[in-house]
Amino acid sequence: MALMITDECINCDVCEPECPNGAISMGPEIYQIDPAKCTECVGHYDEPQCRQVCPVECIPFDPAWQEAPEQLLAKYHQLQAEAQTGVAGANAGERTDAATLGGVGAGTTAAPQAGRAIDVQG
Ligand code: SF4
Ligand code: SF4
Repeated sequence: MALMITDECINCDVCEPECPNGAISMGPEIYQIDPAKCTECVGHYDEPQCRQVCPVECIPFDPAWQEAPEQLLAKYHQLQAEAQTGVAGANAGERTDAATLGGVGAGTTAAPQAGRAIDVQG
C-alpha cells in the first residue's frame, strides 16, 4: 500500500529528502506522493521514513493502493533496475551526478555497476 499526503500538510519540506525512492515531490499546493514509486520504504527501511518525520502526521496509508509485501518488494526491485539501467542511481547521489556528467546508461555500453559511474566523476 502506498502512502498519501493529506491536505493537513504544512509544506515543511522535511519528508521529501527522506524518501529513498524519490516518491515525494511538491504538488500544486502541498507535497504529494507518487504511488508508483512508494514502496512503504520496503527494501530500504523497516518503517516508512516520511511518516517518521512528518510533524503533523498527515501521511496515512492510501486505501486506493492496496499492495502486499511481496508486491512492494517487487516494486522496489523494479525501481532499482530502472535506476541502474536508465536515468540515474536511485540511492546514491554521487552516482546521479556522475551519470549526469558522463551520460552513463544512455550510450551503447551499459554500465550495470555503480563503479563505472564513479569512474566518470573521478
Ligand atoms: S513510505 Fe517510504 S517510499 Fe513511500 S513515500 Fe514515504 S519515504 Fe517514500
Ligand atoms: S513532513 Fe508532513 S507536513 Fe512536512 S511536507 Fe511532508 S507531508 Fe507535509
